Amino acid sequence: MKHLKIAIHIFVFILLTVLTQIGGLIYLLSLLTHAWIEKSTTRKISAAALKILTFVFLYTACTCWLVPLLAEPFGRVPLPVKETDHLKPLTILTCVMNRHYVRPALKTAAVDAARSMHEKFPGTTVNYLDANFPFINKFPLLPHLSHNDGKKLDLAFCYRMSATNKDTNDCPSAIGYGVCEEPLPHEKNTAAFCAANGYWNYSVLTYIIPQKNKKMFSLDEGRTRELVQQLTAQKAIGKLFIEPHLIERLKLQSDKIRFHGCQAVRHDDHIHIQLK
Ligand SMILES: [Zn+2]
Repeated sequence: MKHLKIAIHIFVFILLTVLTQIGGLIYLLSLLTHAWIEKSTTRKISAAALKILTFVFLYTACTCWLVPLLAEPFGRVPLPVKETDHLKPLTILTCVMNRHYVRPALKTAAVDAARSMHEKFPGTTVNYLDANFPFINKFPLLPHLSHNDGKKLDLAFCYRMSATNKDTNDCPSAIGYGVCEEPLPHEKNTAAFCAANGYWNYSVLTYIIPQKNKKMFSLDEGRTRELVQQLTAQKAIGKLFIEPHLIERLKLQSDKIRFHGCQAVRHDDHIHIQLK
């Protein structure tokens, strides 16, 4: 029984660290309160509820107040949690899990691009997806290969509602990933090329993420093209990844736009930008 308990603690520690970076440490900290909680109540259900509440309280306090303060000396700042300058997280879970930290120059570039988008297309909000964790270079933000230094950020495409053809700031995927803008028959099919060369990982998210909203949305080519252009126009941005068939379809021209390679995942569901 004791071994099982230790195994569960280790599993929870690893899971929380992988998902949120600081969650594992806070979980260990919350274990210090367990002896006191077990003494204060004999009911098992009350003790379990108190343990969970203690962890949630400590995690929330650290995520909201302590982490942003401590991240700054590490050269990382949080992106806006609520819509600010027309930039916001697509899902609040990104911020809850501390996956919204970037270098200050990247925040400035993203905010400037979002502001320009709103000037050109009033009502448009740019949705950001995963960025980086707050601390430690080379600490991986799974499942991303490179989001480990504060220099990387993913942004959602812009969409229209298929039924009305009206602009929307929503996305077909709740997390922004995995619902892809497939290549047309005459376009370059990079996903098929990568799969044929043994890269099973390339389209893996399309099998995990529900596709039920796919038909409700269509890619807003005009606004997505403008978003890419605004991003590549930012001096601080060194590279931008988007799927090859969309480079052609949207007639994108910038030497900052590159192909990310089959070892990554496909980029016809989001844009990846990174600092020089
Ligand atoms: Zn990325």
